[in-house]
Amino acid sequence: MNIIVLNSGSNGNAVYVESPVTGAAVLLDCGISRKQIELRLKQHGRFLDSVRAVFVTHEHADHVRGLPVTTKLYRMPTFLTEATWRKMWKHRPHKGHRFIGRDARVTVEDISVEAFSKHHDAADPVFFVVEISGVRFLYATDLGEHSEDLARLLGDVDAALLESNYDEEMLENGSYPPDLKIRIRSTHGHLSNLQAMDLVASHANGRLHTLILGHLSENNNTPEVVGREVERLFARRGEFRPRIVVASRYEVGDLLSIP
Ligand SMILES: [Zn+2]
Ligand SMILES: [Zn+2]
Repeated sequence: MNIIVLNSGSNGNAVYVESPVTGAAVLLDCGISRKQIELRLKQHGRFLDSVRAVFVTHEHADHVRGLPVTTKLYRMPTFLTEATWRKMWKHRPHKGHRFIGRDARVTVEDISVEAFSKHHDAADPVFFVVEISGVRFLYATDLGEHSEDLARLLGDVDAALLESNYDEEMLENGSYPPDLKIRIRSTHGHLSNLQAMDLVASHANGRLHTLILGHLSENNNTPEVVGREVERLFARRGEFRPRIVVASRYEVGDLLSIP
């Protein structure tokens, strides 16, 4: 499986997942412009023509901003929950959307995608597990708190993109108004670095080849702080150590091959 994180953060999210066998791909979220998706894929010699479908986690603009134009120009179907579609207005996909249920599995060529319910302040938000030839990738951002599904799946995937949104001290001492701090910390907000590390420490195992930490806050986190936390975690664990990647809010990531 090949993964390219095109962007990750409150300014836009999109992840390209490709089958190395057929070259077919899917997009997880479409929260940056069609033009930016094209430019960023091109840096890796990839093109939107290979994308067979878009899977949307929830209706927040940072996950769907590029959806109308991208799906219209490339005539690709969008899979999303019905409540998510109902809550979307200007970011609705071009015709050809299909509803997915929670815990449903959709297969596009040799790529299968499963949706699971999550805690977040959206209509019916989901996270995804993508599977290609037995290789499994968990894509889970915008989480107020972990769930049983998430905990179980972290131990049953080869790669994961997990939200590591904010450093607790930076949020506490930062300039956000109190109600926004409460929203971010709530069970329907975002995961802190410590919450993300706790999840990995408690549930991941030697199967996890690549751990991508993403959706970092612009004001309450830095890649350096996340890097430090994750180093501390694996220094403590010792018995296994995945490849660690911190996803960027500003530029396309490396092409990650997952064996
Ligand atoms: Zn988001
Ligand atoms: Zn969100």
